Amino acid sequence: MHEFSLCNSVMRIIERQASATGFARVNSVRLEIGALANVEIDALRFSFAATSRGTIADGARLEIIETPAYAWCPECAGEVIVKSRIEGCPVCAATLVNLRGGDMLHVREMEVE
Ligand SMILES: [Zn+2]
Repeated sequence: MHEFSLCNSVMRIIERQASATGFARVNSVRLEIGALANVEIDALRFSFAATSRGTIADGARLEIIETPAYAWCPECAGEVIVKSRIEGCPVCAATLVNLRGGDMLHVREMEVE
């Protein structure tokens, strides 16, 4: 389950931030997840609760924002929003190239004390 390793990287980001800025407690974490990241939201919440236990982010609220993925469609000669890796262009059904932005996860914001 890759949600656990995602949460481990999130925890590393939080800890790095904490030692850089000196906060002692994380109240909430806002994560951005690309629509193509194959992340199971429930599994992610569960993993986050497990990996943050006993850390400064223990009990932190997890907000998850799903961000769209973009790709370049050579037929439309423009950028389109895609919902799945296997579907083509939503407008003309051409095979898409240069999928981007859809498979990443990052920490957008944190509420700390
Ligand atoms: Zn197209």
